[in-house]
Amino acid sequence: MKIKEILKSDKYGDQVVVKGWVRTKRTSKNVAFIALNDGSTIHNVQVVVDLNEISEESIAEATTGASVAIEGIMIESPGSGQNVEISAKKVTVLGPADPEVYPLQPKKHSLEFLREKAHLRFRTNTFGAITRVRHAMIYAIHKFFNDKGFYNIHTPIITGSDAEGAGEMFRVTTLELNNLPRKEDGSINFEEDFFGKETNLTVSGQLEAELAALAMGEVYTFGPTFRAENSNTSRHLAEFWMIEPEMAFYDIHDDMDLAEEMLKYLIRYALENCMDDLQFLSKRLQEEEKNKKQEDRAPMELIEKLKFVLENDFERITYTEAIDILRDSKPNKKGKFQFPVDKWGVDMQSEHERYLVEKHFQKPVIVTGYPKEIKAFYMKVNEDNNTVRAMDVLFPGIGEIIGGSQREEKYDVLLKRMEEMSVPAEEMWWYLETRKFGTVPHAGFGLGFERLMLFVTGMGNIRDVIPFPRTPQNAEF
Ligand code: ATP
Ligand code: MN
Repeated sequence: MKIKEILKSDKYGDQVVVKGWVRTKRTSKNVAFIALNDGSTIHNVQVVVDLNEISEESIAEATTGASVAIEGIMIESPGSGQNVEISAKKVTVLGPADPEVYPLQPKKHSLEFLREKAHLRFRTNTFGAITRVRHAMIYAIHKFFNDKGFYNIHTPIITGSDAEGAGEMFRVTTLELNNLPRKEDGSINFEEDFFGKETNLTVSGQLEAELAALAMGEVYTFGPTFRAENSNTSRHLAEFWMIEPEMAFYDIHDDMDLAEEMLKYLIRYALENCMDDLQFLSKRLQEEEKNKKQEDRAPMELIEKLKFVLENDFERITYTEAIDILRDSKPNKKGKFQFPVDKWGVDMQSEHERYLVEKHFQKPVIVTGYPKEIKAFYMKVNEDNNTVRAMDVLFPGIGEIIGGSQREEKYDVLLKRMEEMSVPAEEMWWYLETRKFGTVPHAGFGLGFERLMLFVTGMGNIRDVIPFPRTPQNAEF
C-alpha cells in the first residue's frame, strides 16, 4: 500500500505491506521508531517496532537511506501528529545504506550540495515535493488543452531549419569530427551527413505547430527544446520543456486571454491538488527568506502569492507605455539598472521586466506592441509598420514566463520580413506555403515549463525544478 493511502485510512487493525526508504530511525529501550517514505507523499508513516518481538540486531541496517519492506498492522496513532501508524510484525531490509558513506543525512542540506547529488536528491523532502508538483502540472497542462478541444502535436526534436535559433543551436551529426568530408572550397560537405543536410536540436516547435493549426484548428506542443545560449542565469537551461499552443482564427487579444486563462488554471490546479507539498515548500521558502535582508524579502508567502495571481487580472500595457514607466522610474534615474533605459527601441531585460511586475504594478503584466526590430520575423506587423503584435507575459520573481504573438498570415508581408531579417526563404518554403494556401489569422505562444515551475514552487534556481539540469559545463547526471 502507498503511504499516501495509509495516512488517509482509518481501517485500524488491517494488515498492510509497505515498502520505501528510511528517513530516520530512533531506538529506545523496548521500541524503535522508523519514519518511512515511499515518494507518494511529503509525509512519512511512523513504523513502530517492538524490540521484544523483533530483535534490534535484525533492524540494525534499517538506517537513513536504506530500503525496507514492512509487514504490519495499521493502528491508531496516539500522538505522532498523524492518525495512523504501523505496528511492525516483520521488517526486511532490502538494501542497506552504509551511514558512514550515505551522503544524505537527516538534516538540512544546501541546494548547491544537492545539485552535486542529483542522483539521490529525489529522496529529500524538497525534491520529492517538486517532483510531485511537476507531475501534477504536466497532467494539468494536458487536461487543460484536452478539455478545450486542442490536439497535442509531436513536433520534431531534430530539425533542419535554423530560422529561429541561429547561433544558439546544438548540432546533430554523425560525421566524424576529426575527419570531416570537405567540398572543393574547403567547407564541410553536409551532404555526406546522416540527413544529407545540416541538422540541429530544435529551439521551438512553433513553426511546425503552425502547420498543424492551419488544419486542426487548435493545437499544442509540449516537448523538450534546446538552446546553446551561454547564459548562466537562474532562469536559463540548455535543455528545457516548452508548451506551445497555436490557434487558427485567434488574434493577439484571444492569445492573451488564453495565456492568462491557462496560467490561472494551472495555479488553481496546484492549489487544489498539491496543498501538502505547497505548504512544505512555503515553509521552506520562509526559512530561506529569514536569511535575506528585509528589502530583498518576497512581499508574500508562496500560497498567498499563488492565490493573489488567481484573484487579479493581469495588467495589459504596450511596450511604449512600459518604456515610459521604466525611463521615469527611480532605479533608472539613480543609475540602478545594469542596462539603463534611455530610448524607445531597446530590448527589455529581466531587471526591467521585474521592476514593472514587482514594483510598479505589483501583479503579472502582459506587454504588447514591441518594436519589430527586436522580435522574430513571423510576428504580425502592426498598421504603424513599426511594432509587431507580440505579447510577453511577465511574472514576479521571474520576468518573462511566456513569449507569444499573432503570426503574420499575409504571404507578401511575411516574405518581405524574412528578407529584411535574412531568414532563408528558400529553406522555409513549406512554412511560406501555408500563407499561399488557405491562410488565416492565427496566434500562439510559448510557456517555459520550468519557469512556471519556479513560480509555482517558489524555488529560486531553475536547476532545482528539473530533475537533471543541463547548463553550460554541466551534464553529469
Ligand atoms: P529570455 O528573454 O528570458 O531568454 P526568450 O525571449 O529567449 O527568453 P522565447 O524564445 O520567447 O524566450 O521562449 C518562450 C519561453 O520559453 C520564454 O518565455 C521562457 O519561459 C522560456 N525559455 C526561453 N529560454 C529558456 C531557457 N534557456 N531556459 C528555460 N526556459 C526558457
Ligand atoms: Mn521571448
